[in-house]
Amino acid sequence: MEVNCEGCAGCCIDWRPVSPVPLDHERRSGRLPLDDTYNLVSLTRDEIGRFVDAGHGDALTPRLWRPADGDASVTIDDRAVAAIDGRPAFVVGLRKPPKPVAPFGLDRRWLRGCVFLDPDSLQCRIHGDHLYPGECADYPGHNLALDRETECERVERVYGGERLVDGRDPPTGHLRLGPAALGTTVFAHPDPARLDGVADRLVAGTLRPADRAEFVGYAVASLPGSLTVDDDRAAAVREAVLGSSSWLSGVLDAWAARATAVGDDASNAALGIEDEAGAPATPGWDAIHPGGEG
Ligand code: SF4
Ligand code: SF4
Repeated sequence: MEVNCEGCAGCCIDWRPVSPVPLDHERRSGRLPLDDTYNLVSLTRDEIGRFVDAGHGDALTPRLWRPADGDASVTIDDRAVAAIDGRPAFVVGLRKPPKPVAPFGLDRRWLRGCVFLDPDSLQCRIHGDHLYPGECADYPGHNLALDRETECERVERVYGGERLVDGRDPPTGHLRLGPAALGTTVFAHPDPARLDGVADRLVAGTLRPADRAEFVGYAVASLPGSLTVDDDRAAAVREAVLGSSSWLSGVLDAWAARATAVGDDASNAALGIEDEAGAPATPGWDAIHPGGEG
């Protein structure tokens, strides 16, 4: 598998505002997310725990779904939510605040992008370190293994160029589907009564820190392969998430305060906010392709 990621970041940003064709692969049919995040990177329980331990618990956000036909469900805020044994099912992924980015050769715009994406180089700030998510390391291998269109191909279709250079030999090490996913990548919240207002806020894009911490806590406190959770552990993780402190804590608010509407021109936006806050630097593309080629 070989991809040409220079100047792309298609799988790390929500580029729907700059796409002339609808990008709706996550919301065509079946189990539809309540949130409007594009390409949520879903994390394993251990990865979520590592982000919390690193002080990045505030980088995480939950996803719940409207039930597909035949799914069990529970009701939260008068909304049906997919459930397992009466417990709302969820995954945890990385937040996408608005950032000033210039993908695909476009002028710089405000687009939602992964918390860890360097908006200047369009490289990942945690690439290859202990926090780097398995789903990102494998991408687009997961899609290739399931014979689903990749983001690389969507970018090629809209903006041309060759992004998916060689789709052979996709890795499958992080592919967890079916019951093995329970308590590892898919979790079940044990007490829907604690979730009043959360489904509405998830739909409105107005989740509160306590809402996000609630799900992160129960994800880390889940026992793999089961519905069992450790309530004391969940409470401790919630507290840790609410006390998160790292370079990105202030940055998330700073981007939100500076951004205008998604898709708007961002050519005058200051790009150095993250670096000034102490974010890990990215190497630039010349370091990866010394000849300057993709
Ligand atoms: S969409 Fe494909 S080519 Fe673009 S950054 Fe992601 S993996 Fe790389
Ligand atoms: S963690 Fe890195 S590779 Fe994964 S979505 Fe975020 S910026 Fe992209």
